[in-house]
Formats: sequence, C-alpha cells, structure tokens
Amino acid sequence: MYIDIEGKEEDIGILLNNIKTKPPQLSKINEIQIEDKKVVNYEKFNILKSNAEVNAITLISPDTGVCEDCIKDITDMKNRRYKYPFTNCTNCGPRFSIIKDLPYDREATCMNQFIMCNECRKEYENPLDRRFHAQPTACPICGPQIELVDNEGNKIKSLGIAKKVPNLIGQGFILAIKGLGGFHLACNAKCEDVIQKLRIRKKRPTKPLALMMKDIETVKKFCHVSHIEEKILCSERKPIILLNKKNDLLPYNIAPHNKRLGIMLPYTPLHHLLFDEGIDVLVMTSANKNSMPIIYKNDDAIHNLKDIADYILIHNRDIHIPIDDSVSMVVLHEERVLRNSRGYAPINVKHSMTHDILASGSHLKNTFAISKKDNVFISQYIGDVENTETCDRVNMLVKHFKNVYNINPELIVHDMHPNYWSKEYVKTHDSNNIEVQHHHAHIVSCMVENEVKDRVIGIAYDGSGYGADKKMWGGEFLICDYASFKRVGHLNYVCIPGGESAIKEPWRMAISYLHKVFGNNLDENLPNLFKGKDVKNVKTIINSNINIIDTSSVGRLFDTAAAILGFMEEVTYEGEAAIFLEHICDENEKESYTYDVEYVDDVYIINTNNILKGLLSDLGDKISRSLISRRFHNTVINFSVHLCELISGKYDINKVALSGGVFQNQIILREIYKKLMLKGFEVYTHKLIPCNDSGICLGQIVIANERCKE
Ligand code: ZN
Ligand code: ZN
Ligand code: FE
Repeated sequence: MYIDIEGKEEDIGILLNNIKTKPPQLSKINEIQIEDKKVVNYEKFNILKSNAEVNAITLISPDTGVCEDCIKDITDMKNRRYKYPFTNCTNCGPRFSIIKDLPYDREATCMNQFIMCNECRKEYENPLDRRFHAQPTACPICGPQIELVDNEGNKIKSLGIAKKVPNLIGQGFILAIKGLGGFHLACNAKCEDVIQKLRIRKKRPTKPLALMMKDIETVKKFCHVSHIEEKILCSERKPIILLNKKNDLLPYNIAPHNKRLGIMLPYTPLHHLLFDEGIDVLVMTSANKNSMPIIYKNDDAIHNLKDIADYILIHNRDIHIPIDDSVSMVVLHEERVLRNSRGYAPINVKHSMTHDILASGSHLKNTFAISKKDNVFISQYIGDVENTETCDRVNMLVKHFKNVYNINPELIVHDMHPNYWSKEYVKTHDSNNIEVQHHHAHIVSCMVENEVKDRVIGIAYDGSGYGADKKMWGGEFLICDYASFKRVGHLNYVCIPGGESAIKEPWRMAISYLHKVFGNNLDENLPNLFKGKDVKNVKTIINSNINIIDTSSVGRLFDTAAAILGFMEEVTYEGEAAIFLEHICDENEKESYTYDVEYVDDVYIINTNNILKGLLSDLGDKISRSLISRRFHNTVINFSVHLCELISGKYDINKVALSGGVFQNQIILREIYKKLMLKGFEVYTHKLIPCNDSGICLGQIVIANERCKE
C-alpha cells in the first residue's frame, strides 16, 4: 500500500507512529519504507483506485470471523442489519474465499453482482465509518439473501428462515448449510440417533465430527479449556481446536475412542442465528461425499447432498475459492496447526528464493506451495488426491494462485513415489520438474518454519513415504540441510503383507511384526485375540514374498501395538489405530520396554523385537491396556532420544527437528521435545505449518530451490 502524506513534520511523525503501534485490526505490516516526495498540496483525503502493478506482490487476507461490533448489529432489533446473515465490516468477513483477482476491490470479488444501496454506499465512503472501504459490505436491502430448500431443491416458504432452521435442527433433521468457504452438514449434537443417521448417510463410521458451540461458556461445560486454547478459539481465525473432554455429557459417537473433541465457535453472522433456545451444540462437518473435496456451489449441494441432508440452506453470495475449517491443537503451550484452511490460508512464508517454483505437495492431505521472489504462498488444505474431483480441485486452485499472484513457475516439484498423483500431474506442465524425498521435505519444512539454516538431525515419523531405496520409510533419522540429506538411522524393516489391506487392517501388520520375532514359532506365541483372524493367509503372503514391501514406518509400529491391545477392526481414516492407542494411555506410567540398536553400514537401526516381546508379556500378565499403551509410548520416546544422542555424538550436531504425522500424537511430541531439551539439544517443532503431510510442500519448494542454485 502506498500512502502520500503531506503536513507538519511532527504530525507526520504522529501518523507514522500510529500506523506502527495501532494498525487496523486485520492488517499485517511486514515492513515500512519511507521516502521523500515532491509536495503536491493535496486538498483532501482520498483513496485512489488500485492499480495492478506488474510484479508487485499483494498479499491476500484470509477470511475472518465476524467481529463483536457486527454481532452487536445483528442482535440489535433497532439496527438495520438485525439478523442479517451477511453483515461484515473492515474488521471481519470474507476475503480469500470471494476474491477473484487482485487488486482487492469489490469489482474483483463475488460481491460484484450486488449494487450497494445508498445507506451502504454512505458507510463505504465515510472514512470515519467501520465499513469504510469494506469490500463485501451489504445489508438486507442490497446484499445477498438466504433461501431454504428441501432435498429435492423445492423452495420452503417461510417468513423467518432464520427461526425455522434451528427448529428443524431441534426436530432431528440434518441440514446442509452454506457457510463462508463451503457447505457444512449440521445436526443437533446432543442427539445420538441423529448423529448415527448422519454417519450412516455420509458413510463415515468413526472419524470424529467437528462441533460448533454457541459460545465459550458452552465449550467450558463439556471440555477443559486452557487460557491459550480459549484465546485461539475466540480469535478472529476461529479454527476447530482439539480439546480434552471434561465429561461424557455429549454422545460418544461424535468421536469414538477419542478423549478429545474438535470444537469451534460460530464465525459468521449466519452461524449466530443457528443457535436458539435449546440448541447450543451443533455437529458441523464439511459437506462432501466419500473423501471428495468440500462442496461449495448451490447446485452441487442440491444434487450431491440430497441423500444426506433433509434440507439445504443456500444463499446467493458465490464462494469463489472453497475452503474447509482449520484445525489446531495446543501442545507445550503453543498452537500447532494440523490443517491450514479458513482464517489461516493463504499462508505467506518469507524465505529467500532464487526461483519461481510450484511444489505439488503430498498425496494425502494435499496442500501445494508456489513461490515468487522471497515469498512462498501455501494453499489451503485440499484433501486426499485419490479421485478425479480432488485432482480437479488442486488444478483449479493452482490456476487461481498462479493468476492471482501473477506467477509462472519455471519448475515443478513432486514426491518420489511412483504411484502418487503428482508424478502424473507434473507431466501436464511444460516446466521442468524435480523429485524430492518425502521425509527430507518433512524435515526441511520444519527447518524453514523455524528459520534454521544449520544442519539438523531430523526425526521424521509418519505412516509412509517413498524412500530412496524404494522401500516405504517412516521411522527416519536424517541429517538434513536444505539441499540434501543422509539417512543415519531408522526403524528396522518389516514387511507390509498385502499392501493397502495391511494398512486398513492393523492386525495384519501385527502378524508381520510378530512373524519377524517368532518366525515359525508364531502360532504358539500368538495372543488369543488373533485367533479369529485369517493368520494363515497373512503368513502365506509373507512367505511367498509376493505383493509385499518392506517398511520402517513408526506409524505401522503404532498400528501393531494398537492391534495387540485390541484394535481389531478396520481403520476408516488415517491414523485411527494410533489415535486409539494415544487415547487409552495412562498419564503417569514411567516404565518402558527394551529395544536394541544395531549399527550396520554406518546406519543405526532400531531392532523392535524386544518391544514386541514386552507387549506380549505384559498382555499375558494381564497388565491394563492403558499401562501397556503408555509403556509403548515411553519406548518410542526413549529410542528417539537415544538415537539422537548417538548421532549427535558421531556427527557433532546439536539441533533436532521433529516432523511427520506421528507428531500429532501429543504424548510423543511433548515428551520427545522435553527429553531432548533436558539433554541439551536445540529442538525445533512445527507450529503454523502442519507436521503432517499438509506441511511437506514447503519443504519441497525450498529443497528444489536449493538444488537449482547448485
Ligand atoms: Zn465486523
Ligand atoms: Zn445496503
Ligand atoms: Fe508424511
């Protein structure tokens, strides 16, 4: 932004000081440059039309939750915006999701089809008004309107839709509701039956459902909320926060075998209107079908949600850029973003880049990154690129980012995995491409986020990533810099018997681990709970050496421990078995299992055999599951710290970066961090950038840039 200021020296000083100390609520000032200009003798204050300067980098604001002043407007019966669902001002409202092009003016947003009424225009043009140059400003006379339809698209005639909606929810109906970045499926969160109905219709048996609660007091009735958690919940970003349950007052099927609930507060005026007498907790889950991307168009909602929702609340303010809710948790007194979306995206990371690059990101939980000069822009969370719809969504968003930031990348990065979507995707571009190893990208992402430039020991723990030796990695100790890595340690290899099915059914992985320990004596050592399973078949697969691949994944070790502790079902979402294991954990248990470290060809290898023997022995001794689970966690923590000490001693490196989806496990993150700090390490962890696969695009782009320099 350019500001011409004329006046007395001291007045200019006051203004500059005000800009620095009291900037507008939503502004983010990266730097201020001051230069002397010729005096023009301006006669009045003026905001000139933006000019689209080529190569100028304009940052886009994320969408922002409704502010207190606007809430006052919609709850004041005398206000002309009383109960108006699209009320916003300069301090709040939609941004990223409605911006079609830069510079950010009303004509370049989805609001261009609404012509301001006189009253709104007066506010818009008055520098003293809260709605001065608020591009999406609107009122009931001139702005967008809501409409209620049934699941066949028939209009429901009602005088007060805003009143009708909470009524329908109270009666046990499931509603699809168009929000800021897409549709939600909403229902009464206090009714177990309606939640079950939603789960069946959405074919989502166990994955936790997000909740929206009326206000912070309501949240405190059901969950423990720390001071930091409260601050984040109430912030203008309004993410979903994972909070520990306080009691069992809400139905168990909101988040089966999970001691946390994902909770957010209302963030649009419309949301505030959904809560009525009797309704203070809603299930609010992204409206999509079978792991497809979030639905954001009226027609798509009516067409695709008719089997799930009984009614659909639509409106005529288009969403240009769909965006899910963000998810965060607080560990070690800091916010850890797990899903970067509404309120956070687009993320702008400052990093010295020499090339304009597009990093295609991961296969699961995809986000991509695109760079221009010293700016890396990271997209919102898009989803698992396992169907054409999600692939199309990535394409659409890449096009948008290229256009809106005016970037034409000279290079595209993709993951090494031969079967990942991105390998094909890069072929559709003319640009050169480059491949980056998954775990190297994880660690560099953490380094860049923390501005670490020296070599680090990277601990990369996740479900899987394609390794340089064509095996599936995921329990890795890498010495990393931005350009390269050396694998100096890992978990021992165990075979994944039967590919995907062994990942879907953790008990199969457990058989593989136990087979590694007991070989032909497996049967006599097998715990009873495996007796009903087709163990013979798994053994045949292992012995045949067909359709198996070796893995060093910590995620698979967690799956194994979960199965041994009774998780015998299929997982229906990534990390489900590990979440089960974390949530049955004892808080205070200190004991752990033994393990061996082998040193082969310059690499430290953690031999897991004794861990498995320890688990079985405790199980045989009827030790409680929560103690066994904690002992298992303690063991992972111990070998992680132990390997860092060995590697640090050999290579003289004192910095450790932690990355990978396993660090979403709060016990693992907290305890490894604390123990390493106690041993004198400098430890770096993710905060704004997710430790899961959503974070790897940042690592990819920096690694590629570094290799280009060479
Ligand atoms: Zn506002
Ligand atoms: Zn108006
Ligand atoms: Fe990963």
